[in-house]
Amino acid sequence: MTVYVFGHKNPDSDAIISAIAAAELLKVRGIDAVACKQGDVNPETKFILEKFGLDIPETITNVEGKNIALVDTTELTQLPSDIDKATVVFVADHHKLGGLKTTIPLEVYGQPVGCTATVLTNIFKSEGREIPANIAGAMMCAIFSDTVLFKSPTTTDWDKKAVEELAKIAKIEKPLDLGLEMLKVKSSIENDSALDLINRDFKDFNIHGKKFGIGQIELIDGSMAASKKPEILEEMKKLHKEGGYNTLILLITDIMKEGSEMLVVSDDITAIENVFGIKCDEQHCAWVDGMMSRKKQVVPPLETKLS
Ligand code: MN
Ligand code: MN
Repeated sequence: MTVYVFGHKNPDSDAIISAIAAAELLKVRGIDAVACKQGDVNPETKFILEKFGLDIPETITNVEGKNIALVDTTELTQLPSDIDKATVVFVADHHKLGGLKTTIPLEVYGQPVGCTATVLTNIFKSEGREIPANIAGAMMCAIFSDTVLFKSPTTTDWDKKAVEELAKIAKIEKPLDLGLEMLKVKSSIENDSALDLINRDFKDFNIHGKKFGIGQIELIDGSMAASKKPEILEEMKKLHKEGGYNTLILLITDIMKEGSEMLVVSDDITAIENVFGIKCDEQHCAWVDGMMSRKKQVVPPLETKLS
């Protein structure tokens, strides 16, 4: 029976590339597996797939009755709504556990590292299996993407080691040059609408029974988004109201300055300001030095400091 492998909704490069890598792992084990996605690929991911000659995975929406493998998430809000009617056989992730319940014993691989592709690199290694060169190159890029070229506080030595090994397999002599080229693709936002930018890497969270939406745009130079901020704010206000959100947060991360502007639209903005020790200006915006990671620096304080 085919195993459908996919990552979270609104896929980032890790969700797509790790689905491809995990499907490859299952295939070399002799299992029929197919890489899938929930939602369109972003320009950065497209760049990576084209660079390494990999196909865009097919889209999956219904999983009822299917065998599935998950990468890069176990959050119910980021999975198909009929996930409870599927059989999850495999999970590889680097996030907190997200409330997934399973019906049978399964393989679970998790490590507190910067990227699911790092977890998968380690599985391939521990099983003594070779990663095909093109998939290795793409996995390397996924690690650069998730760790923001190792600048994110989520970066671990495992990620650096994995990049080194993957670069060797893919015969990439200057991995960092490719990483920068990739970030430049990600940073070109002229043609994106305000809504495109909010949705680019956007995730829903349930925090103490309230609906939170948290997005992130990573730019080589954060000021590239300056002219779009008023329009982004208007869209966020609309989405806050129409989407039934308690709070919407958008991080506009400046990779070189190593910090983020935080745009906040909330039912209780003071509570959010207090969580992060910030004061938003009239544009609902505050600069936070060192803020690079939604997973490590935004979601946990919201969960622990709000009630
Ligand atoms: Mn991801
Ligand atoms: Mn990831």
